[in-house]
Amino acid sequence: MALIECSKCGGKISDSAKICPHCGHNFIDEATRKENAKEFGKLSESEQKALRGEYDSLNPGLSMAEKKVKKRKKMLLVFAVISWVLMMPAVVLLMVAQFRIDDIERLVFARLMLADLFIIFLLAIDLVVYYSLRHGQKKINKIWLRELKRFKVWLNNDKQMTYSIFFLTDKEKEIFNSFTEDI
Ligand SMILES: [Zn+2]
Repeated sequence: MALIECSKCGGKISDSAKICPHCGHNFIDEATRKENAKEFGKLSESEQKALRGEYDSLNPGLSMAEKKVKKRKKMLLVFAVISWVLMMPAVVLLMVAQFRIDDIERLVFARLMLADLFIIFLLAIDLVVYYSLRHGQKKINKIWLRELKRFKVWLNNDKQMTYSIFFLTDKEKEIFNSFTEDI
């Protein structure tokens, strides 16, 4: 007989125990529930929608977080496109202009230097805005993952369903798993 930890309360129990002597957790019920549990991801789209609708009416947090994640992704994309479309031609033109002119007059050279400095200044601003947007995105992602965990816990406890999070990246899974079940 070996001692293991109760999955519910963490107390030391015998591996053959059917009920935890500390918290009363019933392992046989849990095992049957797990065996009979359906996987949310394997339900039909309309069944998934119905469950999400039910959950949203109880807790709109997940939908709100999803909207924010989408919005932030869009913002970053728009920002990246604008930066590249506006900035890159200016940088390329300036470089070409400087290399093409063999005998640069002092005035022209001074103007080109000023233009260079201006572009560097713009690039610096661009980077600062980009990183603050990215930082905001990380925060929003964390909120979304917490809400996703709440949804999973709800599916597990209220609907006796499993929910695999295969669609998350490794980094996201790490954050997802860092939230405890009783959030
Ligand atoms: Zn226990």
